Amino acid sequence: MARIAFIGLGNMGGGMAANLAQAGHDVRAFDLSGDALDRAKTKGCTPAASPAEALAEAEAVVTMLPAGRHVAEVYRASVFAAAPKSAILIDCSTIDVATAKTVAAEAGAIGFTMVDAPVSGGIAAADGGTLTFMVGGSGEGFSRAQPILDVMGKAVIHAGEAGAGQAAKICNNMLLGATMAATCEAFVLAQKLGLDLQTFYDISSKASGQSWSMTSYCPVPGVGPETPADRNYEGGFATALMLKDLKLAMAAAKECGAYTPMGGEAEELYQRFADRGGAGKDFSALIKMIDDSWVVPPSADA
Ligand code: NAD
Repeated sequence: MARIAFIGLGNMGGGMAANLAQAGHDVRAFDLSGDALDRAKTKGCTPAASPAEALAEAEAVVTMLPAGRHVAEVYRASVFAAAPKSAILIDCSTIDVATAKTVAAEAGAIGFTMVDAPVSGGIAAADGGTLTFMVGGSGEGFSRAQPILDVMGKAVIHAGEAGAGQAAKICNNMLLGATMAATCEAFVLAQKLGLDLQTFYDISSKASGQSWSMTSYCPVPGVGPETPADRNYEGGFATALMLKDLKLAMAAAKECGAYTPMGGEAEELYQRFADRGGAGKDFSALIKMIDDSWVVPPSADA
């Protein structure tokens, strides 16, 4: 069992660190939030008073932070100075590809092995240890990170060199954002054309319009499997996080010169929905903005 420094014990990191501790690892946890540290303690982690205390003698470092600037700051100000060079560095945050590559290069230049390992799956998957990890880094980095990621996930996939994990994550989520928007539009159009929505689902879920957004995450309450739509769009994957990932995708597309009109349209739609108060709702609640006369009672409107 390894001594693991875990930094960032929020909605996702809290459950991930707990799973490592429950598997028998010696998890030294740090977060700026005292509440997060207290929760980690009740889940078997050892709270640290500072990043340096958590990082001392670590064999692995796992970070789960909000955005690129937090990751760059934590690695430059703390990890590079306080972690042993022998520790494998694993950043599981969703951040921009450019920062992921830069921080990994800085780590490599001073003798560390680092991988980016963003996740697919939300808080329930983090708590349940069923995340999917997309890993960017060398083959050696992947091999060293895999046993630790295996504890927290159901799938660990090597996407390529440094930054490739982040690239895979934002390409996937751009596709998800765009297919969900199109699925919402299709249901609204179907309703306005007088189709029964269950019948449309039965047809389209077996026809060429089928996608994960329709068959696993249907935005219409009472149609398809149980989804956040059946819980007034609570829980699930917040619009604010989808918007964050779309912005990362659009920034990356601009940087590498990729033409992504559907991704751009999806970003604009989710931005408008967030501005109208939908930021905290599941991203499939976009359907309510596309058709304000939607079936959810007005009092529950985002
Ligand atoms: P969160 O805001 O709940 O947690 C982030 C934690 O980092 C907070 O506890 C905060 O106090 C801590 N933190 C910030 N700066 C710090 C610093 N300098 N030192 C130590 N701790 C610091 O966020 P989250 O929902 O857990 O998401 C974390 C990452 O996972 C994000 O990059 C997010 O995009 C990604 N993600 C989230 C979900 C989800 O459903 N929530 C799903 C997939 C990926």
